[in-house]
Amino acid sequence: MTDQTFASLGLAESILSALERQGYETPTPIQTASIPSLLAGRDLLGCAQTGTGKTAAFALPIIQRLSAMAVRPAPKSCRALVVAPTRELAAQIDSSFAAYGANSRLTHTVVYGGVGKAPQVKAIGRGVDVLVATPGRLLDLHNQGVVRLDAVEIVVLDEADRMLDMGFIRDVKRIMALIPKNRQTLLFSATMPNDISGLANSILRDPVRVSVTPDKPTVELIDQKVAFVEKGEKRAFLAALINAQGDERAIVFTRTKHGADKLAKALSVGGIPAEAIHANKSQNNRTRTMDGFRAGNLRVLVATDLAARGIDVDGISHVYNYELPEVAETYVHRIGRTARAGASGCAIALCDREERPLLKAIEKLLRTSVPVASGPLFDQVAADARKTMIAEAAAIRADPRLAAREAAERDRERSFDPRNRTKTGRRPEGRPEARSESRSSSTGAAGRVVAKRGSLTSSSSGATFSSKESNHGNRFDRSPSGRSPSGGASRERSGGARSGQRSR
Ligand code: AMP
Repeated sequence: MTDQTFASLGLAESILSALERQGYETPTPIQTASIPSLLAGRDLLGCAQTGTGKTAAFALPIIQRLSAMAVRPAPKSCRALVVAPTRELAAQIDSSFAAYGANSRLTHTVVYGGVGKAPQVKAIGRGVDVLVATPGRLLDLHNQGVVRLDAVEIVVLDEADRMLDMGFIRDVKRIMALIPKNRQTLLFSATMPNDISGLANSILRDPVRVSVTPDKPTVELIDQKVAFVEKGEKRAFLAALINAQGDERAIVFTRTKHGADKLAKALSVGGIPAEAIHANKSQNNRTRTMDGFRAGNLRVLVATDLAARGIDVDGISHVYNYELPEVAETYVHRIGRTARAGASGCAIALCDREERPLLKAIEKLLRTSVPVASGPLFDQVAADARKTMIAEAAAIRADPRLAAREAAERDRERSFDPRNRTKTGRRPEGRPEARSESRSSSTGAAGRVVAKRGSLTSSSSGATFSSKESNHGNRFDRSPSGRSPSGGASRERSGGARSGQRSR
């Protein structure tokens, strides 16, 4: 396995030189396991998560196979279709095609919602070799008659389980029904819930099965910790933690969009420049924020689970689970944003009392316990957080307007917390349903962070601070791409987010 080279997998010279330019020296396990079968035209069922090199695993054979058949795409058609759940992932995949196909004559474009359709319609008008799309926008364009799917030769469903989570599975089935049966089909999913294996059985023909995440996700390179911090203390604690660690680049995950906005604002006000990214932000805003984060101009990104997968930014040193996810697998995807491309990384979860069952579920999935954060650094963080809370509580006591604003904000936040609103039908991003049990909120309990037996824990007495908690498809890029520190170049250019532009 380890002796394999890209050349020995059967890839053509033009692709090998594009890979060299990316700094890729050896194929990853999923590439080794998938590429020869895909070059031979087999269907594939891949159990793999982002970060394993799965994009190249499917993109390289697609580029080679399409290049070998000297066929031009028909107007409004594509020859290969890649369906991905989020705009960010779709844009990244499109960028990867640009990088890996730099020496080919194939064209590509990406379409997703949240931006104008006109440039996308134009880009597909003459036909493209590779179309990357999110399901909703693709169907929309198909329904308008501006995209045809009756000439698709190869189709990839990426992050199928995520599409299921996001409620796209019916759209995906509709899309599959529009594609000729005589095709090559690839399905990738990090997990294999029943719905996904059912879908796989119905659309794949005698697939090669490749799994690089057997049961247990690979998180060995990540230094994981959990700090037990009450809800009302989390914000001060996180700020102290970021300051203490001098994070180079961190992602903080929150449960709600409102929570992400609020936390990003609070961190920024406290001197830690942070921006939020979630589904309510405009696509331009999301692109700008991601560009700033990738370029290193933005130190802290506060994200909902929209960003938990798909987003591939090298050099994220820390992942903070400000709130634990409702679904244990999501924890793994979140922390997988760090320790990419062989680097190490640190993931710290802030767990309050109500979240203990969620932590248990995560530990069950990992089949190990997450070590409790302890030691002088965390003691200092706890002390700093407490100081901040006491100062803020004093400021609130001294200013009735501030106190009223805090109380209103607390109410508003409670209404935004899906755990308190299951009957309204609102739900956390990307989750079809919120958990139905309502939890008693400890929001109002002012907390005190204390170091106890070398680990962080908290008590509910002490401080009075309350919780607030182109006109054508793009020609494949021939210019050297911005290379990431790890040599993974394609993802560092976010140009793919601007659909319809022509690559140089
Ligand atoms: P993916 O799982 O496709 O999101 O890829 C994760 C990261 O690994 C991306 O930054 C890729 O550029 C990088 N990558 C993919 N294949 C290789 C390889 N064979 N060698 C080095 N980096 C790679």
